Amino acid sequence: MRLTCSFLLVALNALAWAQAPARSNEVETVYPDAQALYLDLHQNPELSSHETQTAANLSTRLRDLGYTVTEHVGGTGVVAILKNGAGPTVMLRTELDALPVEEKTGLPYASKVRAKDESGRDVGVMHACGHDVHMASLFGTAAIMAHSKGTWHGTLILIGQPAEETISGAKRMVEDGLMTRFPKPDVALSLHVGNQLPAGKVGVGPGYRFSNADSLRITIYGKGGHGSMPNSTIDPIVIAARTVVALQTIVSREVKPGEVAVVTVGYIQAGTKNNIIPDLAELGITVRTYKPEVRKQVLAAIERIARAEAAAAGAAREPKIEHYEATDAVYNDPALAQRMEGVLESTLGKDNVVVEEPGLASEDFSYFTAQGIPSFYFGLGGADPGKYAEAKAAGANLPSNHSPLFAPDLDPTLRTGIAAEVAVLRNLLSGSAEELRKSVSLPGH
Ligand SMILES: [Zn+2]
Ligand SMILES: [Zn+2]
Repeated sequence: MRLTCSFLLVALNALAWAQAPARSNEVETVYPDAQALYLDLHQNPELSSHETQTAANLSTRLRDLGYTVTEHVGGTGVVAILKNGAGPTVMLRTELDALPVEEKTGLPYASKVRAKDESGRDVGVMHACGHDVHMASLFGTAAIMAHSKGTWHGTLILIGQPAEETISGAKRMVEDGLMTRFPKPDVALSLHVGNQLPAGKVGVGPGYRFSNADSLRITIYGKGGHGSMPNSTIDPIVIAARTVVALQTIVSREVKPGEVAVVTVGYIQAGTKNNIIPDLAELGITVRTYKPEVRKQVLAAIERIARAEAAAAGAAREPKIEHYEATDAVYNDPALAQRMEGVLESTLGKDNVVVEEPGLASEDFSYFTAQGIPSFYFGLGGADPGKYAEAKAAGANLPSNHSPLFAPDLDPTLRTGIAAEVAVLRNLLSGSAEELRKSVSLPGH
């Protein structure tokens, strides 16, 4: 009986190990504190640019670990530095912000927080993008790195970036001296949790990871009048309709087949009443591309078409074209990505490292790369493996990031995040800064 029991225990243990490859003694040591931080952050989310408690919480914990912490970098940004002799300087980033989403996961630790958004509306607040996972993982990683200084050398910079969801925090931190007041990183790292992979796995790949994103607003000027007398007007609604149709030919007829480009008209606004021809119409457009030359081509084509359609209709005034938001693509340095793939495979097991297709979302992590820093951005599986398999078999998708139902399978997700971060940091913080710089291929991709 006893024998059978212990055999069963050994077998169960082996199974647990197989399912959770990230389980290691050093992760075990920090896991309870990292989990406690996650639960705390998850229940106390703060909106973009308002991450004051979040930043203070993270800062205190990093200071307690021996990091030199500077707060209020670019708003609520946090910079924590641990110097450990000569060697490379490596930066690991987490975001701090949550979203105006009312949590509907039904979890015992679901957020009940409400706040006023930018327009003064009362909104639910939730870590629906999983930035709480990133913070807890960074904290667990910070603890391991601080307690194992014999395993690495160089300068470790951990940053807590505010306002990722509004694509403004990275820029503000750089403008506030992230690259000048503190040691400039040789390499920058970040990860993102999501349900596109089961917990326990990470997603990697070289080159483009996320796209350039450009937001445009086009105001088309016509000449208003009575709906029964179109001859006395220039109808901006007809111009807008023709513009929308003509814009479809950019991707289908102008961009080289095989290149990636998306042009979406997300809204058309014009008019108030059925028998009034309005004075103007407005189009809201998002553009997604990877290559800088394709981005330039698409943006120029939109401008050309908008002007030409207005001219074709005899509009007296050219349309106003406002390019009000722009984010660069997130690009993984190919040599660095290949090296990190190997490191992650030997830490998590080959089966747990998946090469992922790039996406067309946007991320302001690219702003750090734009400062001439080669970077590596990787995906962290967050889906409950059982639910993931079920959904896959049914041809369905689990709730994505930003959904009120987004709920990472915490234990294996967080353990894997910590194990992955520690592994890539130790690998990068090994040789000399010169060797590291020589081994990567940026800038000038
Ligand atoms: Zn997000
Ligand atoms: Zn996010």
